[in-house]
Amino acid sequence: MFKLSEDQEERARRLHKESIVFDAHCDTILSVIDGERSLGEKSEKGHIDIPRLKSGGVKAQVFAVFVRPEWYHDAVHSTMKGISIFKKQIEQNSEDVCFAGAAGDIKKAAENGKIAALLSIEGGEALQGDIHMLKIYRELGVSSLVLTWNHRNAIADGAQDLRSGGGLSDFGVEVVKEMERLDMVVDIAHISPKGFWDVLDVAQKPFIISHSLPRKFMDIPRNLDDGQIKAVAEKGGVIGATFYFSSYGGQQGSIENILDVIDYFVNIAGVEHVGIGSDFDGYDGNVNGLESCEKMINLTRGLVYRGYSDEDIAKILGKNFIRVFEKNVLCDCDGLAPDRSARRSKACSFAPQGYAGNSASCLNAGRHASVHAAPAPLVSSLRTSLASLYGAFGRHESPALKFLHPYQFSLWKTSRKEFCHAFWRPYFHF
Ligand SMILES: [Zn+2]
Repeated sequence: MFKLSEDQEERARRLHKESIVFDAHCDTILSVIDGERSLGEKSEKGHIDIPRLKSGGVKAQVFAVFVRPEWYHDAVHSTMKGISIFKKQIEQNSEDVCFAGAAGDIKKAAENGKIAALLSIEGGEALQGDIHMLKIYRELGVSSLVLTWNHRNAIADGAQDLRSGGGLSDFGVEVVKEMERLDMVVDIAHISPKGFWDVLDVAQKPFIISHSLPRKFMDIPRNLDDGQIKAVAEKGGVIGATFYFSSYGGQQGSIENILDVIDYFVNIAGVEHVGIGSDFDGYDGNVNGLESCEKMINLTRGLVYRGYSDEDIAKILGKNFIRVFEKNVLCDCDGLAPDRSARRSKACSFAPQGYAGNSASCLNAGRHASVHAAPAPLVSSLRTSLASLYGAFGRHESPALKFLHPYQFSLWKTSRKEFCHAFWRPYFHF
């Protein structure tokens, strides 16, 4: 590995400490769901846990609930269960980690010496074709959605499903627009090339490619050609350089490979549009020099070694991704914007007014509660029992709880307010 002078070494350590090191993608939740590990315990297995994030100086981590293909038949259930397990882990480690449902929470967490944990869903299958689920996920604190994994879904074709050359479906267009309305970051890692260009046309806000590589380094449809890299930049978006390719095909990569990728992205997109999306715990094996998140400082050391300025290093380490999240994710997971007055003036799409209440408080405030005309069957099946559940909000032992599936019950127990908020509010306009 590179040899730094004493001054360079000191500079790297200072920069790493001062920066909000932001990793835009990991799959660690899967190991937690499978019961192999818990976030709070330092493990020899895999790449990420909270003790290693701490010692590695990572201050903001996007945790993705990856929608496994075997979940597709009941993707809402399985995704919700993943979210519930993740949130429980965050609660159990609240001394070190802070859930970040809004961009403002990232800096707040850093100021309090905590790691910001952001929640993403990898795979639009989690919607099961129902646009209403987006709002529910958003209100549970999901701040970004990877529209597709490698397969075709209702939103678009994935990068390994190219036979028909499909891009965004009509539903996919609706999803991108609704995500922007709900303050969610559109993430198109894994999308088909046609899907990429469709999103570029439809998106009004900057989007991200949380974990990817240049085609130049690995020529597969899942990676980005130079035109795509430039287009992301022109839209104001950010690409996360992933570590995964180094293990691809059994080759053992090294930190030098990752630095080459970063250099390449920077040369084409500009330094404002490049970040880190490790994909830790999404692949087996290790990258020499970046064996786990604990070694993240080596990336900073490498950037110093390669001659990047302090300012540019801070951008790559986190500022760029944080900029995009700040442009998109204004609200926190309770639907309360940092600036409440801004929310009331409708700057935010899910204003809190009416939250605490019911149709009575809605009418008191001079607004009408109105029911969505045609909720999807999936949603409507939950509606009746959840309506009475909401009526019992605050009461632990409600007969309505009997209607809940066990995962819903655990969500209810761990986060009653959020649960009610998430499941009830989408059906009413306040
Ligand atoms: Zn992925």
